[in-house]
Parts: sequence; structure tokens; C-alpha cells
Amino acid sequence: MSALKTLFWSGVAAVAIMAVALLLRQVSAPRPASIDPDAPDRSWRYIIIHHSAGWYGSDASLRKMHESRGWADDAYHIVIGNGSATPDGTVEFTRRWREQLDGAHAGVREYNHRGIGICIVGDLDKGPMTAAQSRALEKLLVQLQARYAIPTSSVLRHSDISRTRCPGRYFSRSTSLSKAVSSTANGAQTAVTKRTTPSRRKASR
Ligand SMILES: [Zn+2]
Repeated sequence: MSALKTLFWSGVAAVAIMAVALLLRQVSAPRPASIDPDAPDRSWRYIIIHHSAGWYGSDASLRKMHESRGWADDAYHIVIGNGSATPDGTVEFTRRWREQLDGAHAGVREYNHRGIGICIVGDLDKGPMTAAQSRALEKLLVQLQARYAIPTSSVLRHSDISRTRCPGRYFSRSTSLSKAVSSTANGAQTAVTKRTTPSRRKASR
């Protein structure tokens, strides 16, 4: 009997330790996050950029909102926080990304199927994204474009493929996107390999 008890309590202890470890991992999650090199891959062809059209947001709040509209889960693959619900510039990978599922963000079947949906939290019709969001987006574009060989011409605003103002008039292609894209053009190949084989040389500009 006491052997059984010991077994029971050691089981309880193990579960508690795992729960604490999980919690700590969430709290100390690095930001902006990097794409997981071991995640299962789909053959993504596009990147579609959106804004949340509201000041407050995160994967959790978007999931709630989208589920209330009858969609399964958060419609996007990646959410970039603005300091309202998650720290400024935080990159959240949603369940659709983790499980490499179709998005529900584009309003066009092909783009939902082949496009990575990135949502920038904020109303970019009223003001620009934060500097931290801009940096996070640039880093993401570099990584995603390199990993899936997505050309700059296939990095699109939602308004490029649908009748919508999304991602807002302050998201101008001539500033944030082209800046991100031009840094991608220079650093695309090094972005992903850097993680596994760090170079000791400083990258030349
Ligand atoms: Zn959109």
C-alpha cells in the first residue's frame, strides 16, 4: 500500500514540476520569437499582412472574437502585439501556425491555403505600428521569406488581394514593407542558417 502511495505522490510531484516549468517557459519566452526550425512545413507561397483594426489585441483576444463569428480559432498564423495585451513587439504563433493549417484571413481561397497570415495589432488607419512591431515584422519577413523562398512580390497587404482598407493607411508599402523587404533581399539567405551555424564575421553591409 505504501509503495502505491509513494508512486502516487511522486506522480503528483512530477506533474507539478512540469506545470511550473511550462509556466516559466511562457513567462520567459523570448521576443520577438523566431520561427521553429523543427515545425512541420507547408509549401507557403505568400505572406499576407493585416492589422487588427483595434487598439487591444493578442492571439487570445482574436481567437475569442473570431470564434464568436463562427470561425475555428484565430484566423491568422502570426500575431504581433503592440503592448496592449502582450508586450510591445511580441510575436505570437497561433494554433493555425503550430499545426500548419489554412488561414481564414484573406477572403480568397488560394491565399488562405497558401498564404501566411500576419496580423499587426492596432488600428493602422489611425496611426502607425510601434517601432517594436516594425522591427518584429522585419525580422519575421526575413526569416519566412528565406525559409519558404517567398519572393518580395508575394509579400502582400490584405488590400492587395481583397476589397478592404486592411492593413490601414498608415501601413504604407513605401516605408515599413519596403524597408523590411530590402533588408530581406540583403540578408535572406543568412537569416535562417545563422541560427544553427553562427558566423564569427560581422555581416558586411
Ligand atoms: Zn486584413
